[in-house]
Amino acid sequence: MSHIVSQASCSLPISGGEVELHVFGREKDGPERVMAAVHRTAHSESSPPLVRLHSACATGDILGSLRCDCGSQLSAALDAVLGSDYGILLYLLGHEGRGIGLANKIRAYALQEQGLDTVEANVALGLPVDDRDYTDAIEVLRAFDIFQLRLATNNPLKIAALETAGMEVERVPWGGFVTPHNSGYLETKDYVLGHLNSIGPLTEPAVGTADGR
Ligand SMILES: [Zn+2]
Repeated sequence: MSHIVSQASCSLPISGGEVELHVFGREKDGPERVMAAVHRTAHSESSPPLVRLHSACATGDILGSLRCDCGSQLSAALDAVLGSDYGILLYLLGHEGRGIGLANKIRAYALQEQGLDTVEANVALGLPVDDRDYTDAIEVLRAFDIFQLRLATNNPLKIAALETAGMEVERVPWGGFVTPHNSGYLETKDYVLGHLNSIGPLTEPAVGTADGR
């Protein structure tokens, strides 16, 4: 597989600040795979960057679905990135539905309406529970010369993927994005998928705060 390449970049004013925006793919004009929003201040060299790897979720990110916690996580991640001297949000475009795609995710949602949990639904459809691959994210971080980072996550698989790639990772506590509709989903993440504190209570102060979006 070819290496990740920068396809385009610009400065982008967003709500709350300004970021450098970079789009990465595996060929110069091939499909886009990662959108990187980078925020730097004059003190950006003082500590390792705060990094959030966000898996694309059309229902959560665009529609504000309360079935998952993605919309709140994205909003909090942007706040955290903009509040850091050096912060990076990597928006992973191929990670919709933990890698199974939007249509399959919606098929799984339909099964969840019948009582299956997020893991059982994927299994019933013959799909992997988590098909995400962090190679793109790792290559983008390397492209930014990042080998040491503070990672905002409650997902041990993300930490393991980066550490296996030789990165030095300090975990920044993350989680607690609970709504009346996603508590079962968050419980499954913690108790079946081994996430840390998706549902809380947090034992350490979180960087992000849920805004209920
Ligand atoms: Zn989601």
